[in-house]
Order: sequence, then structure tokens, then C-alpha cells
Amino acid sequence: MTATSGRSKFLPALLPFIEEDDIRAVNEVLRSGWLTVGKRCLDFESALAKFMGARHVHAVSSCTAALHLALTALGLKKGDVVVTSPITFTATVAAIVHTGATPLLADVDRDTGNLDPAQVEKLARTNRRIRAIIPVHFAGHPCEMDALLSLARKHRWLVVEDAAHALAAEYKGTPIGALPSTATCFSFYACKNLCAIEGGAIATDSATLDRRVRLWSLHGISRDAWKRYGEGGSWRYDVVEPGFKNNFTDVQAALALSQLGKLDRLQRRREKIALRYGEVFQPLEALEVPVVRSDVKMAWHIYVLRLRKRRLKIGRDGFIEELRRRNIGTSVHFVPIHLHSAYKKILKKSAKDYPVAMDFYSRALTLPLHPGMTDEDVQDVIESVLDICRRNRA
Ligand SMILES: *Cc1c(COP(=O)(O)O)cnc(C)c1O
Repeated sequence: MTATSGRSKFLPALLPFIEEDDIRAVNEVLRSGWLTVGKRCLDFESALAKFMGARHVHAVSSCTAALHLALTALGLKKGDVVVTSPITFTATVAAIVHTGATPLLADVDRDTGNLDPAQVEKLARTNRRIRAIIPVHFAGHPCEMDALLSLARKHRWLVVEDAAHALAAEYKGTPIGALPSTATCFSFYACKNLCAIEGGAIATDSATLDRRVRLWSLHGISRDAWKRYGEGGSWRYDVVEPGFKNNFTDVQAALALSQLGKLDRLQRRREKIALRYGEVFQPLEALEVPVVRSDVKMAWHIYVLRLRKRRLKIGRDGFIEELRRRNIGTSVHFVPIHLHSAYKKILKKSAKDYPVAMDFYSRALTLPLHPGMTDEDVQDVIESVLDICRRNRA
């Protein structure tokens, strides 16, 4: 291997960002004697609702659980069809499958990798069993919600947003979580923009849906456990639904609250890194930087660069390998859903059914982007990318 630009220590594409005050907040709960779902969960739910201007927020164990709970509480079942994007994580589609409903993919918009409203409309013409859609705000770029919500109104569909990437994003000035959809699901997984180790939340305007997801998330028991076990609580309870065990915990809530308090700062750092990448990469013919539409605020969960294959002698996989040699970590978001073994069986689709998603995927790579990156880290990524482009010009 010849010496190239690069760095001596590996830089991962995604990393959790934890500071001393986060650790102190967790320690405090560990010493408090109350570990699982309790007052801190309620505090976090209120704080998050306020942050995004949502009427109700329920915190749960993951975004996967949030999606599944929302769909279950809304009564999705066998025979129903739910439309979503092939450019997403398996969780979005697994949540549909777990309710008994059938997932149906619509191809994506070539700029953003988000669900294309025109493709969704096309499906609506031939499929009468569609009951819901799940727009995925890929990379933290909001979907075209006006078009999707108006389609949903016309066809009486439910709209459950997968906002795992989109905490702190805005669509036409409205925070994601406060749009007039049925529900919005967030992720607080370790490497997402807000880290609770694991975690998720469902935001909704509907008091009824909020009550239903609360019920389903904790055994279907009619009262919160913390009330049941707390001072003055009663031993009486009733199981109203055969619920799941998807609750959040006070330890995670303490971490989440601590992170929420500094989210603005973390978001500004993400944006600054993304803008720096954009400045340098935009002029290069071999590279396509992420599109950010003028009517959105991007959450910059991930930075997805796309290659212009004709301008390079190496392909996407080769580019990733070259970055790895320079100790720069990357990822690919996402291997399209219909290419995975499990979904080949369920969806019975082939690669050519979603040409835009396939093109997006075949040229995409995710560069390191996390708030803990130093300016030197950012510069290392930039120099490595530039060096690879220079050496492999077609
Ligand atoms: C991470 C992710 C999820 C799942 O989130 P968890 O909190 O890990 O369950 C769902 N959808 C998308 C698009 C994701 O990236």
C-alpha cells in the first residue's frame, strides 16, 4: 500500500456524543432508587413536546417500537396496505409487517431520496387497500409533506412519519413532530441526533391516540406502573389490551433530558460541518452534495455524498475502500429494502422496480458527521476525499 493522505486514528462515520454532564445526570438517577419508567420520563415527554410544539409525546424503548405501537394503536391489521420508501432502515418496514399489514414501496425523489408523492399517487390508482403511508425524512431532510398530506386527505389515509433522522428538522417553518399528520416517530438510538442509549417517541395531536399508545406500550395495563408502585398507589389494575413491553426508563430519560438541553448546540455543530463539506465538495464534478430544498431546515443526521460514476475511475465500493485505507469510516444509507432476503420474500420485487432508489443507493456513501468531530477531523475527511478524487479522475 502506498502512503496516501489520511490519519493515524480511525474516524467512525457515526458516533454517540456524551459529555460529563450527561454522565452526571445518569448517575443521579442510578442513585435515586427509581430506575425504570417514572417521573423523569414524564418530564422528558413534556420537554420534548415543548421543543417541537407537539400536543402529546410518549417516550418508548425505540423508534421501531414507536412505529409499531402507532400502527397497532391505529388498528392497522392483515389486509391493510401501508406505503413507505425503499430508502429506509428495516425497522420502518418490519413495524408494518408486525401488525399483519402488507408493506408496499413507492420509489423516491432523485434529489432527496425521500418518498416521491407522484409515485405514491400512482400506487393509489391501482391499490384500493392502502390505509396508511410512512414518509421517512431521509438524512434529516423533510419529505414533501404538503403533497403527501393532501394525498392522504383525499384518500383518507393515516400518515405516520418516520422521523428517526429528523429531530429538530423543519418543514416550511413547522418543526417535524408538529405537522398535521397522524403521528410522528423519533429515535434516540446511540448514534442518532439525540442519544438516550436506546429510545424513541411518538408525537401526536390526538389525545385518543396518545392514550392508546401509552396503553399498548406497557402491557396494556390501565394505569402507569409508577403510579401503581408509588406512594399511595393501589394494587388494583386491569389489563385492557394484550400490550407490549416497550416503555422508556428514567435512566434513559435523564440522559435524554440532558441531551435535549444542548440539542441546539449539537445541531449547529452538525450544520457547520455539513456546510464546510458542501463548500469544498460542491465544485467537484465527481461529487454530488446533498440537496437541501429552500423551504426546509435540515437536521443533518447523516451526510450522504453521491458519486458521478462517469467522472471517476473507481466505483462507490472502491471509494469506500480508499477512505477506509485513509482511516476514514463510512457507511451506506441504505441498502434498499427490496434487496434484503427477508423482503424479497415478502415484497416479491426486483431491483428494477425502484430505479431511482437503486441509482441513489449505487452512488451513495455516508461521510463522518457527529458533533464531537474536531475541525482537524473534518479537514482529514475533506483531504482524503479530495485526494481520492484527484487520483481517480476519469
Ligand atoms: C434508526 C432508524 C430507525 C429505528 O430506530 P431505533 O430507535 O433504533 O428503533 C427507524 N427508521 C430509520 C430511518 C432509522 O434510521
